Amino acid sequence: MAYHILEDCISCGVCMPECPEGAISEGSPYIIDPKLCTECGACAEVCPVDACRPAPKKTIGTTPG
Ligand code: SF4
Ligand code: SF4
Repeated sequence: MAYHILEDCISCGVCMPECPEGAISEGSPYIIDPKLCTECGACAEVCPVDACRPAPKKTIGTTPG
């Protein structure tokens, strides 16, 4: 399981340089590559709208389970 970015994302770009794995890509919303994410939580700490979450709830483009 990796962090996900919710549709609340305002594409501010703050999280991208904070990711030590380079797992975050630009987009609307921004995208986290689950193969690279180590769940360090750095993105969640800096996100102004709390869109980086450890568990998928209303994420885009994923299926439950
Ligand atoms: S939890 Fe850490 S590794 Fe995963 S996307 Fe966020 S900053 Fe990158
Ligand atoms: S910090 Fe939050 S609002 Fe800004 S681009 Fe990243 S996920 Fe989106």
